[in-house]
Amino acid sequence: MIDFDLTEDQVAIRDMAARFAREVVRPAEIELDRMADPDEVFKSTIFRDTMRLAYQLGFHKMGIKEEHGGLGLDPVTRGLVWEELAAGGAGIAAGLLAASVAPAFLSVLAPHQTGLIEAYVRPFCEDTEAQHISAWGSSEPNIGSDGSNYHDPCVHHETTAVQSANGYTLQGAKSSFVSNGGIADLYLVFACMDSSKGICGSGVFLVPLGEGVTRGKALDKIGLRALNQAEVSFEAAQIPEDHMIMPSGDHYPMIHNAIKTVGNIGVGYLALGLLRAAYEEALSYAKERVQFGKPIVQHQAMSFRLFEAFQAIEAARGLLWKASWVLGNTGLGDLKMSAAARVFATNMAMKHTVEMVQILGGYGISKEYTLEKYMRDAKLLQIMDATNEIMTIKGAALL
Ligand SMILES: Cc1cc2nc3c(=O)[nH]c(=O)nc-3n(C[C@H](O)[C@H](O)[C@H](O)COP(=O)(O)OP(=O)(O)OC[C@H]3O[C@@H](n4cnc5c(N)ncnc54)[C@H](O)[C@@H]3O)c2cc1C
Repeated sequence: MIDFDLTEDQVAIRDMAARFAREVVRPAEIELDRMADPDEVFKSTIFRDTMRLAYQLGFHKMGIKEEHGGLGLDPVTRGLVWEELAAGGAGIAAGLLAASVAPAFLSVLAPHQTGLIEAYVRPFCEDTEAQHISAWGSSEPNIGSDGSNYHDPCVHHETTAVQSANGYTLQGAKSSFVSNGGIADLYLVFACMDSSKGICGSGVFLVPLGEGVTRGKALDKIGLRALNQAEVSFEAAQIPEDHMIMPSGDHYPMIHNAIKTVGNIGVGYLALGLLRAAYEEALSYAKERVQFGKPIVQHQAMSFRLFEAFQAIEAARGLLWKASWVLGNTGLGDLKMSAAARVFATNMAMKHTVEMVQILGGYGISKEYTLEKYMRDAKLLQIMDATNEIMTIKGAALL
């Protein structure tokens, strides 16, 4: 049965997210975007207060199972929320999405690890101060797209995990792109256990912030400036035995693809929300701005641009809802479907935010409006988690 009606609960949480996005996230994100020093952003009370309020509303634990303290929301309902939050500010929304990566991984893929669930998942869900933030580190200075290169035995993570008396010793560094890398207290780390198996020789480790774990400076970048990205490095970091939550081996592609599937859908919703916000702002401007004796929305060159953005938004949302629905119905989801949704949504966000800037003419490039920010933010989404080229290659291989 095809049905686009939302349930009362879905409408309620979507509207709560929309209000929070409009009243709290958007003004905070605009202010954070304009701070010159990226490290100041994440020390600022405005960033901490926004995250704290988001946690108090439960947006950090939407994907975690109810029996572990989370909201246990299905992927379509979560998507409704992510679209709204990203319409307020894609940087804050991206940080919130990434914040739950380690607890969500444990809750969904390792529910039998009851000790770890009690130690990390439940405290994360009970957190109302945004003190617990997680991050995942696969990419490294020399391993970018190669994180998905399952076939070349010469390619492996340079971060290593070596068995020691009480567990594992981690050594190495993850790239300066790690989302929440500089503010997290818990990391999901891909580290090489057996280099002869190439990238599949990596296991997945839960690494709490502590001795031997160093967080780098916040990356200075063109967009998503409210999303912390920073290197995290390991200097003989000692990890208990049970914190190796996935050993190396042939199942690596399955686990990596499952993470990418969820990641693709999340990145897609960030693009959708951001593009919708740009479109709404441009549409409202075009109805007000008069040139050649009429509102510019009545000039066909402008209205065609707006209609094309409207089509892109509707199409992206349709693809994302389908990918989310498949994820909700199949457990690990469908990588091909999620890649199609993500690549389309992010490419549309990039293409049409440029067009929305054009609708504002000179004002489009002025910081008096937020159009130029959406355009800068959109660029990062074509690269986030994996580039659109790599997701296209992976999707195409599955046809
Ligand atoms: C906003 C954002 C958030 C991120 N968050 C995280 C995170 O939380 N954790 C984490 O580990 N990493 C994260 N990353 C890093 C991200 O995963 C990498 O940037 C991405 O995988 C690409 O790696 P790279 O930047 O090293 O580019 P490279 O792999 O060096 O690629 C450079 C260019 O070559 C192209 N290319 C590479 N190989 C091929 C090929 N086989 N065929 C065709 N073209 C190819 C790429 O598409 C790209 O255009 C994030 C990045 C961004 C932008």
